Formats: sequence, C-alpha cells, structure tokens
Amino acid sequence: MRACYIESFGGPEKLICGEVPEPRVGEKDVLVQVMASGICYHDTLTRKGVFPRTKLPVILGHQVSGKVVQVGPRVTSLRPGDRVLCLPFATCGECEYCLSGREPLCEDALFIGEEVDGGYAEWVALPENAWVKIPDNVDDDTASVLACSLGTAYHAAKTIAKIHKDETVVVTGASGGIGTHVIEVLRWIGARVIAVTGSAAKVSYLKQIGADEVVVHDNGSYAKKVKMLTQEKGADCVLDIVGGSFIHESLKSLKRGGRMVVIGNVSGQPAELKPAVLILKEVSILGTKGVTRREMEEILDLLGQGAFHVRISEVHGLEQVPDIHRRMQERDTTARIVIHPYE
Ligand code: ZN
Repeated sequence: MRACYIESFGGPEKLICGEVPEPRVGEKDVLVQVMASGICYHDTLTRKGVFPRTKLPVILGHQVSGKVVQVGPRVTSLRPGDRVLCLPFATCGECEYCLSGREPLCEDALFIGEEVDGGYAEWVALPENAWVKIPDNVDDDTASVLACSLGTAYHAAKTIAKIHKDETVVVTGASGGIGTHVIEVLRWIGARVIAVTGSAAKVSYLKQIGADEVVVHDNGSYAKKVKMLTQEKGADCVLDIVGGSFIHESLKSLKRGGRMVVIGNVSGQPAELKPAVLILKEVSILGTKGVTRREMEEILDLLGQGAFHVRISEVHGLEQVPDIHRRMQERDTTARIVIHPYE
C-alpha cells in the first residue's frame, strides 16, 4: 500500500511517500480503509523527534476516518462496512482511568502515528477501542479531524475549564487547528472570545469565525491588550495552546480568581512561573488531554444538530504531505488540513 512515513527524525524532507507492506490485523484489531486523514501540527513535532516514545520507522497521523474492511476474531462492536473515526490513542480498556471514562489518561495508552502506525496511509489497523462509529450525516473529511480538533477543544473548554455563557475567555494560537475549534466551542457555549494571534493578516479570518476581539501579540506580549479590553480586570479564563513563554503572559491576562487551561505546548519550551501570581490572584492552572469516547459521542450528536462548524481549509493527496508540514512550520496554514491517501 502507499503511505507516508519516517525512518529517522528531522525536517520535512525526512517524510518518505512510498510503498510499504499492508498492516497485520491482530486478534483485537480493526483494519480500516482510510478515506481521510488529518495533518496536525503535533505531527511536525513527532517528525522532529520531540516525543521520545515514537517508534521508528512509523507512519504518522492520528486523525483518521474510513471504512472497516476486516476485523480480528476478538472484535465484537464493529463489522466490515462500518464507518469509523479514530481517537488519538488506543487504550488498555482495563485500568482505573479507562473504567472511569477518563481513557486519555490510560497509563498504557499508545499514541497513534507515534507508537503504532497511523493514518498517512491507504490502510490502517488499530485496536477496536481506538475507533468510534460515525453516523451517516457526518462526512469523511469532517470525521477525520473531529477527535483531535473539536474533541480536544470540547474537553478543554467544557469539561476542564467549565466555561459559562458570557465569561470572557482568551485563546492563544487562535488560528491553528485546535484554536479555530476552541473558538467554535466557546461560541456554542456563549462566551466572549478574545483571540490572540501572531499575525495581523489573520485578524479578519478570526473575526469571521467568531472571535469577538482579536489581539495581535507583540513578540509574545498580549496581557496589557487583554487588560485594556476587560476594563483592566483581566479575563475569566485563558485557554493556552502555545505554552512556553506564553504561560506567564496568559497568567498575567487573568482576572483575580481566574483559571488557565494548558492545551498545547507548540513552542516546546519550558515556562517561567512566578508563584506569587498564583497566590496573590488566587488563580488556578489546569491541564487537559485529548477527548473521551463519551464526549466524542456527544460531539457527534451535537454536530448532527448543527451546533458546530468543523474548519477544514485544504484537501490534498498523500504526496503533498512534506509540503504541508513545511508550510505548517512556517505558520502559513489555518484550521485543519486533510489528505485523501487513496487519490
Ligand atoms: Zn492532532
């Protein structure tokens, strides 16, 4: 089959598009013909070697939708012909986290496209519990990016940050694959959205997709501008996707008693933390990881009711993957990009 994979870490030139053996289907595995596969900024970090868990060689990609073509003898919930999307992880299904519905925290979780072969391919075999059935009214492109984009945003904003209607919420990294979907969920909740971006060219796009205000950061500073937009009080909540030096600036953007949720660490850098800020303003910092199966089912229901737009900006073939990675690193993309490996 055709696939895009890496044999060693490095730049976009390390991505090889070529023939590889078809996946082996284990007892609990489900083999899926990939209809659409999302490209995530996370994949560029995997390719660079940022995550030590990555096994080489590996086919990248953790955002897959497709059609079941074969199931292992111990698979009970899926059958050939079912349409499915994958969660970013395959989990054990037996630990305290899996049994209590917090499966992204599973200690034996395998990240798809890092620890097991992922979706930049014509076919992918993953354990049964990595797959979620999709209803007929959700198309393949939308389904492929749903878990990582809208799912991550929904878990962070609704479950972890517990954002209410009319709260003022700052989103950093707002124009990217996660950021655009965080805005989508905040609009649905009815919050006031202050989007932070590094690019003046993205202001009108962000307003068009639902940001109430857009702040173009000045070399990483934006707290002052957020204060100005909130009568010097600060925001109720910051959803930080950038990490690194933005963490301190995000904390400064909060009002007293506010909360920050760290969704991403795009910069890959450590963060400076002044404990006095936490104490004097009584602010909290929370982490968020992925999306649960139950939330994914809620999202699919809500999508059917027209609650959300899923923002896909481009669709390409497998051969375009190295170029997409290049442009993503240069911040020359918005929202989510999808490939059709069979084309
Ligand atoms: Zn992703």
